[in-house]
Amino acid sequence: MRRMAALPAHVQVAIVGAGFGGIAAAVRLVQAGVRDVVLLERGDEVGGTWRDNRYPGCACDVQSHLYSLSFAPNPDWSRTYSPQPEIQAYARRVADDFGVRERLHLHTTVLGAAWDGATQRWQLRTSRGALTAAVLVLAQGALSEPAMPDIPGLDDFRGPVFHSARWRDDVALEGRRVAVIGTGASAIQFVPAIQPRVAALDVYQRTPPWVMPRHDRAITAVERAIYRRLPVAQRLVRARIYAWRELLALPFQHPRLARLVQHIALAHLRAQVADPALRARLVPDYVIGCKRILLSNDWYPALARPNVQVVNDPIARVRPEGIETRDGTVRPADVLIVGTGFRPTAPPLADAVHGRAGTTLAAAWQGSPVAHLGTTVHGFPNLFMLMGPNTGLGHSSVLYMLEAQVAHLVGALRHCARHGIAAIEPTRAAQAAWRDDVARRERGTVWTSGGCASWYLDRTGRNSTLWPDFTWRFRRRVAPFDASEYAVVAPTPAHDAPTLVTA
Ligand code: NAP
Repeated sequence: MRRMAALPAHVQVAIVGAGFGGIAAAVRLVQAGVRDVVLLERGDEVGGTWRDNRYPGCACDVQSHLYSLSFAPNPDWSRTYSPQPEIQAYARRVADDFGVRERLHLHTTVLGAAWDGATQRWQLRTSRGALTAAVLVLAQGALSEPAMPDIPGLDDFRGPVFHSARWRDDVALEGRRVAVIGTGASAIQFVPAIQPRVAALDVYQRTPPWVMPRHDRAITAVERAIYRRLPVAQRLVRARIYAWRELLALPFQHPRLARLVQHIALAHLRAQVADPALRARLVPDYVIGCKRILLSNDWYPALARPNVQVVNDPIARVRPEGIETRDGTVRPADVLIVGTGFRPTAPPLADAVHGRAGTTLAAAWQGSPVAHLGTTVHGFPNLFMLMGPNTGLGHSSVLYMLEAQVAHLVGALRHCARHGIAAIEPTRAAQAAWRDDVARRERGTVWTSGGCASWYLDRTGRNSTLWPDFTWRFRRRVAPFDASEYAVVAPTPAHDAPTLVTA
């Protein structure tokens, strides 16, 4: 095994996480002349969610020409919607090609961070020792903490139990009876992939999702040759996909339009499921878009196969030999796979990051995360979040959002360097205005009036996950750094109360 490089005692910028957010931040910072950067990554490779999600059938439901970093186009995508191994290989290549790897510390879990007002540095505790950083970038991703369902008896199940984001290649599924809990974006990809291999497949569905056709195709060798020789052609394709996807924001904003889109999904269901009884169980009861819209051509056909049962009765408990539903039926299973999603609104690091008053992010948020421009937090100097609150999307590429946030980060550091400022944070007023602005934008959208409960909502019922508008509006607002929304944080003598000086 290669010896791991020791952590430096101090760096200018410490980035937590080496997924696309961490990679983009490192590349852009170095390009801007900020070279003293490290990435602290708990895993054994870069790639984040694309490293962790290796379940059969895993792919991105945003076209690859758009789901890639603007500064690293990939002319070699094999399909319009590329599979996970290709996206992961792309992340690795970008890390190699743009000098990220030399700044990367793998197997390094950040355990906690505290702002030290006297030195104006973040003090970081990691699984491989301590370091300090002038600037802390949290790029650990929104979908990095798998959520196990809170179902009685889960621990007593006799066979293997695993989450889709922690796929067990060592568990053979051939000829086994498999139970799947969940019918979200992950399950609709792995269920069709495993269905032909298993003896019996019970799919436990709590809420039927809306499913639209997926227009995927191979990208031809000729197209790839054109993109390699004529990069502008690929940029034009990217722009066309971007513009089309921006239009998709409209149904989210106008539920009446969303109801029209529902007809396409219902026609898709009718075309793919002949059995009216099964079809009836697959019709969603909320407005399309309220939860993530899923794209699949093989989900419904898989559910209609003779070895698959869609179970709508709510789960009562897990028994050692199978799953018991509320009507008292116990369906035996050998393997239990949970596709129950993630916890984006309660990231564990929020309990371990302490700001200038000593409070944690979790305490400041009280269950409802908020960050100015989704990126910076009042009370937490020199802290930048990528994929922070209200930066997720239902209709386009989150990499586009990430790059706007990275531009903000670079602008902030440039401003500080130019003016000799050691520490900044957003003013309370700016952050509150942003929160109100997001709330105003989402009024009347499918997320507030669509009649569903989704992971977009936090425990207070507020959407603290999604950006409810066009992505170009986010970029226009977030990418430029506006110093008037920030305050300079003055150093504090050790143990003194910190003071804020408005710039
Ligand atoms: P998800 O969308 O949150 O779906 C979780 C599923 O598990 C839902 O069907 C949910 O039912 C069900 N569930 C949760 N707890 C349950 C319980 N206690 N009992 C029974 N059912 C339960 O999770 P995901 O499928 O992993 O996807 C999460 C996100 O990852 C997506 O929204 C998307 O942003 C991203 N993703 C993207 C891609 C891609 O192609 N780009 C692929 C996979 C994932 P309810 O609906 O009733 O809550």
